[in-house]
Amino acid sequence: MNVRKTNIYDLDLDQLGVFLSDMQEPAYRARQIWQGLYVHNWQAANEFTNLPKDLRQRLDQTIDFQPLIPEEKLSSSDRQTEKILFRLTDGKAIETVLMAYEERRTLCISTQAGCAMGCVFCATGQMGFRRHLTSGEIVAQVMYYARQLKDRGEKVTNVVMMGMGEPFHNYDSTLAAIDRLNHKYGYNFGARRFTISTVGLVPMIERFTKEKRQINLAISLHAADDELRSSMLPVNRKYPIDVLLKACKAYVETTGRRITFEWALIRDVNDSPETARKLAGRLSGLLCHVNVIPLNPTQKYPGQATTRERAEAFRGVLEKAGIPCTVRIRRGIDIQAGCGQLAEGTQNPSDINFSK
Ligand code: SAH
Ligand code: SF4
Repeated sequence: MNVRKTNIYDLDLDQLGVFLSDMQEPAYRARQIWQGLYVHNWQAANEFTNLPKDLRQRLDQTIDFQPLIPEEKLSSSDRQTEKILFRLTDGKAIETVLMAYEERRTLCISTQAGCAMGCVFCATGQMGFRRHLTSGEIVAQVMYYARQLKDRGEKVTNVVMMGMGEPFHNYDSTLAAIDRLNHKYGYNFGARRFTISTVGLVPMIERFTKEKRQINLAISLHAADDELRSSMLPVNRKYPIDVLLKACKAYVETTGRRITFEWALIRDVNDSPETARKLAGRLSGLLCHVNVIPLNPTQKYPGQATTRERAEAFRGVLEKAGIPCTVRIRRGIDIQAGCGQLAEGTQNPSDINFSK
């Protein structure tokens, strides 16, 4: 019988203790393994030189120290963006993107294989839902790059949940992963360096608000009226803009934290100065920031990216209304670095120029 090994990153420190006591090992071993994983970034049983050799061998038989198999790696032509397609133990695929900008090393990680939300312009939405990731599969994406960067003398500085999937549809595993990475005896990655991006699942925004965490929150808005938003983001039929913005307002009031709105600028769809004015009206009085980014075109959606001039004009309208706005450049466009574009491409490999 082929018994699947335990993904080591699925265990929190207490669970690791239980796992080891089941192996008749003393409690302090859990702390040693935790240190090896999250302080030294060891990723194979034989690297755990703080453990006796026979224990390393026994662990190797039951534990998976590298639950993600890097299958394809792409680098953008300017080498600033790198994207990996990881194969999960059940054969499903996810993507992780590393973006280097000055001193920043931002990781864009996945929380699900595929996505159930069906946003029409999104490659992940177009492929549909495969499954939730476990907390350990979310953690493992960060620890993979922690190790890669450590070997180059660098560090992960920010983690954004903007890869494949809807983090608030997989709320418990996403938050458990953040807690594990935040653990003070482990990786100790500050809560303020995480950003969760959500399509707008209102009950989960409310739950998150009550938890009063330091994690940053971004909302994918993309439209200022319900008709347009529902046509692009089906979830809007369930949680229309008024309801969503009410939840955002409660979040800002309860936590005192600024909220970010994401806006993909699609030519002649949501990029006009009138739309910017409508948006400014809806956001007025809210402690927020708007990130606009030109659409990353995908195979199954006919929309095109806006122009630089129109993006600047859009920003100008918002700024004039007192709403801070940043125009993001599209990073890694030559490596399909947009959400879900690589995993989708693997079903059609001839579309992609891999540089392995
Ligand atoms: N499910 C979450 C997080 C993953 S998507 C969410 O929707 O917020 C991360 C961001 O990428 C979202 O703002 C999403 O709207 C945006 N996005 C998806 N496809 C895109 C595309 N083709 N071009 C530009 N932005 C896109
Ligand atoms: Fe899912 Fe986000 Fe893509 Fe919408 S934009 S389909 S919520 S990953």
